[in-house]
Amino acid sequence: MKRVDWRGSLWRPLIRSVWVIVLSLNACSADKGPRPDVLLITIDTLRADWIHAYGFEGETTPQIDALAARGVLFEKAIAAASLTAPAHASIMTSRYAREHSIGTFNGETRLFGGETLAERFRSAGYETAAFVSNIVLRRRSGLDRGFQTYDDELEDSEVNRAAYFERVAAKTAARAMDWLASRPRNQPVFVWLHLQDPHGPYTPPEEFEGQVGDWPLRMKRPLPFLKNNIGRAGIPAYQALNDVRQPEFYAGRYGEELLYADYWVGEVVEFFETRAAPRGGIVLLTADHGESMGELGWFFQHGHATTPDLARVPLLVVAPGASSSRVESLVSHVDIAPTLLDLAGLNPLPHSSGLSLAPVIFGAAPGESRSIFTDTDGEAAVYTANRLTRLSSPQLVGNYSGPPHPPEVQTLEWGEEGPWKNLENDVEATELLMRYIQNSAPLTSAEAMRPEHIEQLRALGYLPPEDERGETDSSQSAPSSR
Ligand SMILES: [Zn+2]
Repeated sequence: MKRVDWRGSLWRPLIRSVWVIVLSLNACSADKGPRPDVLLITIDTLRADWIHAYGFEGETTPQIDALAARGVLFEKAIAAASLTAPAHASIMTSRYAREHSIGTFNGETRLFGGETLAERFRSAGYETAAFVSNIVLRRRSGLDRGFQTYDDELEDSEVNRAAYFERVAAKTAARAMDWLASRPRNQPVFVWLHLQDPHGPYTPPEEFEGQVGDWPLRMKRPLPFLKNNIGRAGIPAYQALNDVRQPEFYAGRYGEELLYADYWVGEVVEFFETRAAPRGGIVLLTADHGESMGELGWFFQHGHATTPDLARVPLLVVAPGASSSRVESLVSHVDIAPTLLDLAGLNPLPHSSGLSLAPVIFGAAPGESRSIFTDTDGEAAVYTANRLTRLSSPQLVGNYSGPPHPPEVQTLEWGEEGPWKNLENDVEATELLMRYIQNSAPLTSAEAMRPEHIEQLRALGYLPPEDERGETDSSQSAPSSR
């Protein structure tokens, strides 16, 4: 059985021998029994540190906590991007954002070239289905590749932007459970469930309002309302609710949206595991990116940077035979596809930039010491266990055409909580990052979305008019808030 190589590890020989023993004992082995059902859950805009199991003081996530209590929790998981479409493309391809054709665009490019996670499951005989809730994940993104069922019927509108369609957790979860109930039990399934709810505007269903209550942030003073959706030093226009300017109000509603999504995570996991019982089910839960709650003066927004408020996401895995544990080592979205395929006894995707975490999940290996990349439009960063080096420049904006612009570099110490300490610029990390930026290329040349789709998005107000497309700061004009 071919597996992802643990590159450069001194532990490799030991890992291999222990891992072979674990696999031979594991009923999910590809050669020995039926393949396990696989459920991938991605929750939009979910900061790891708002999950109780990750140390959040409030009770925002009883169902996710229950998963953590019986699964493997990765303390330091880094999103591949702080934008929805690029992050999900990295999850599906095991390639960093600059290595797949969606790049750092969010809604304008298609996933093209290379094999995807769903295609690999499909070719191994799995029934594949996805249930998504965010407009940039609709099938025109190319993220539907490999899914026999791709349910992207979005019938709800955002509160402040009627043309921004989405779907609430109750509806998306119901679709997923209906589909599961309709499938023959002798066929393994790969299901991707995407829940949108913690994404702003923070409008939890009535029965969840007040269950978390206003939640104090470091910023105590009322914030100004902004006319734009950028979120710098104020409340982005699309987030504004009922003329309220207190930051703790918005934080509390975010927590209640999370509590709501968490409820439906519990429902779907229980339904999935009941169906999967005879052959065993694998559940992996993560988020596409986080959300700023005042860090460096940014509020209720994502997509503008690569800092830990946006890059640190939850990553939890429940797999048959794996006992509960917490893993300290740094991991990435690009590890998700190799891990799920490995756990299902399938070969990794070619051109993978990630590693299988299966040996770590089964306690057969320690985590690796690694450098991990993350991106957004206009910025890239490299993370190690306790520091990050970020490089921002207008030249990193996807379609920048202006004059050369010197990049800004910053090295920060990061850990459980901010504010992050400024360190002297890490020269070695900067060079590594520059090499990543300069050398990364998608497997095939980027395939732009068809002009009629771009026009459609523009007509909906989702993309700026052509003449407003920024040359210097994409966050001014790009669809930063999905
Ligand atoms: Zn998102």
